[in-house]
Amino acid sequence: MSWERVGNVVAFPVTPVMRKQGCIAKNRLAELRVLFVDDDPFMREITAEILSTMGVGHVLCASDGSEALGLVDDPITYPDVIICDIAMPNMDGIVLIRHLANRDFRGSMILLSGTSDRIIGAVADLVRRRGMRLLGAMVKPINPAMLEQLLSGSQHADSEVDAARLSQFNTILSGEELRRGLESGSVFITVQPKISTATREVVGAEALLRWRDSVRGTILPPAVVSSAEAHGLIDDLTLCIFREAVRSLAQFCAAGHSMSISVNLSVENLATLDLPERLLRIAAQEGADPRRVTLEVTESRLMGNLATSLEVLGRLSLAGFKLSMDDFGTGYSTLEKLKQLPFDELKVDRAFVSGATHDTVARTILRSCIELGHALGLTVVAEGIETGGDRDLLASLGCDEMQGYYFSRPMLPEEFLHWVKAFHEQPIGLR
Ligand code: C2E
Ligand code: MG
Ligand code: MG
Repeated sequence: MSWERVGNVVAFPVTPVMRKQGCIAKNRLAELRVLFVDDDPFMREITAEILSTMGVGHVLCASDGSEALGLVDDPITYPDVIICDIAMPNMDGIVLIRHLANRDFRGSMILLSGTSDRIIGAVADLVRRRGMRLLGAMVKPINPAMLEQLLSGSQHADSEVDAARLSQFNTILSGEELRRGLESGSVFITVQPKISTATREVVGAEALLRWRDSVRGTILPPAVVSSAEAHGLIDDLTLCIFREAVRSLAQFCAAGHSMSISVNLSVENLATLDLPERLLRIAAQEGADPRRVTLEVTESRLMGNLATSLEVLGRLSLAGFKLSMDDFGTGYSTLEKLKQLPFDELKVDRAFVSGATHDTVARTILRSCIELGHALGLTVVAEGIETGGDRDLLASLGCDEMQGYYFSRPMLPEEFLHWVKAFHEQPIGLR
């Protein structure tokens, strides 16, 4: 077998002969780009052989975390799945996981350990807590059948990986592009319904920003938000999204629905002392009631200047807005912040939701988050409901509201009311 060597990183092309060895039917695997990270050259060679024989289209190898990050940072080699040994010299698997989370890695991970499955359990927990998708974990030696089964689970992550590739590498917007885009209507919102667990009715929606670009297509939020933060335009972006969101809310309410709308804030918005007044003014102009607006702030980013954030959040709360701690569980000093800040809602990160039906650790975390939220008098929302099993589990755990692809992907506001009508026409048992 031949392969290409780039420094210490080896990329194994899959030859037609390998495909003929019983692996042709696996179109899915043929499209996958899998990165195997292990310091042992023998393991790398064997595993690359196994993956290739299985029909994986693009197999990349790296001998430690730094090399792996080099591949993640390159759009040509950005992997769909990383199979990672935990113990490695230089940068080990645990540090690699932190760096991947900082890069908002949207692919999936499989963990490998040469020793016991206790450490592997702890690291698996860490991957989920960092908000990444874990396909599974294995103690060496690699069992090819099990590996193939785990890889087949990466399927539903595809669109996200494509989006991440796009947003990470092709769409960093310049200040000029942002300014022009904000004026010319390149920014728009999609809305994703939130469902009450008790009544199975739609109680609101989350507004998620999109950027329409004539050359690059639709750009997803992280690239737009980080560009706006970098160019000092995050307040303009947030106010623009907020206006669209409350305008939609006013329309939903005018059509007779008792709904709320959630809008994501950047932590940087919380440094703007007159944010409450500005949001109130826009809500009034659009005819929306602030008490029907929930402002979501991502927990992991609530660090920095907590005093200023506290002042602004406190005044937003006094103004009648509801406050939600988004992506709960992915941050560091969660409990302390929950105590300090005037939140109304806790939104459990989808890392704990996906997989909780078959993973006892994720389920335990999920249950504790819900209990904690309720003990603090908060509404608990679970995001990332992808299956009927997720829905049933969350209902049995007493979660108040649910949101996720199982109910609907984000849609344009003008489609929303039709969707709500069709949803409510279904028998309750099916919702
Ligand atoms: P978020 O606020 O936690 O929003 C949920 C994200 O999860 C959305 O991604 C949504 O499309 C996705 N999602 C919903 N249901 C499912 C599901 O069942 N499975 C999976 N795998 N994903 C699901 P999106 O739209 O790409 O947004 C990503 C993040 O960008 C948001 O996470 C939020 O933190 C940020 N964001 C979005 N819109 C805005 C905005 O207007 N302002 C700011 N500052 N941030 C925003
Ligand atoms: Mg959110
Ligand atoms: Mg979230």
